[in-house]
Amino acid sequence: MTDQPAASQSAWSAATAEVQVAPPEVSAQRWPIHRTDVAPAFRASDLDFYYGDTQALQGVSLDIRQNEITALIGPSGCGKSTFLRCLNRMNDLIPGTRVDGQLHFHGEDLYASYVDAVDLRRRIGMVFQKPNPFPKSIRDNLTFGMKVNGIKPTDERVEAVLRKASLWDEVKDKLNRDAFALSGGQQQRLCIARAIAVEPEVILMDEPCSALDPISTLAIEDLMKDLVRQYTIVIVTHNMQQAARVSHRTAFFTVAGLEQGQRYGVLAEDGETEALFSAPKDPRTQDYITGRFG
Ligand code: ADP
Repeated sequence: MTDQPAASQSAWSAATAEVQVAPPEVSAQRWPIHRTDVAPAFRASDLDFYYGDTQALQGVSLDIRQNEITALIGPSGCGKSTFLRCLNRMNDLIPGTRVDGQLHFHGEDLYASYVDAVDLRRRIGMVFQKPNPFPKSIRDNLTFGMKVNGIKPTDERVEAVLRKASLWDEVKDKLNRDAFALSGGQQQRLCIARAIAVEPEVILMDEPCSALDPISTLAIEDLMKDLVRQYTIVIVTHNMQQAARVSHRTAFFTVAGLEQGQRYGVLAEDGETEALFSAPKDPRTQDYITGRFG
């Protein structure tokens, strides 16, 4: 850090301002689990994505490592959510979409015709911007997916999942209450619990805190730091401070093609979060993190 240019250093300091007031063990928890000796969970190679005739992503090549939190950042409309939804083939549900290039999950072609997209979405779960529990009890929100996936919905499993989602103490006496009776932050943790309940390997999070207050946001971030010991996490966030606080690696997407009258998202740069914020290699990243655009 000390030998970084002043401008970069101030961007990093601004981005991590809230980290500095957090207990020191937070960052101590985060960095030691960083691994470079394991194959990536996902490998995107020259990935293009189209909504009908409109190209939304061009030439994205990115590795996403196991048991790390990868943050996808960049200006609105640069394709972060589109890329996230490619990772569990959620875009397949939108008519007229098309993927070119390759996307591998543990070395297997995610888009091969034999891949069962429903099973894939169990293995690669998703949490959305707005908490979206089922209109059912807290317990049923968890047992529904278990039953569908052949997992016995025992009380022990329900408790274990709620404990993992840091929700057990708050709901243990009201498991039969309607999930909508919970606060927004609790509902979002319930949605994370619901994703965990079907025993996934990856949790994709699409701006999971944007509808939450700061305290609930920090609760979700703490939860992510716990969960990453067991799961691979990819988070889209428009909040650079959040990326700096929680992620091991950051991928910066931006908009390109404007000179040719087009508009599609590209990956400008990715790397370890601290390095990307303190010494970005691409001037577009530098402009974004110093607030010059976006
Ligand atoms: P970001 O998450 O970075 O804000 P998105 O992935 O949501 O960006 O969007 C990338 C581009 O794709 C935008 O131009 C957006 O309008 C377009 N887009 C997103 N979803 C759809 C959709 N369902 N149908 C058509 N275009 C879409």
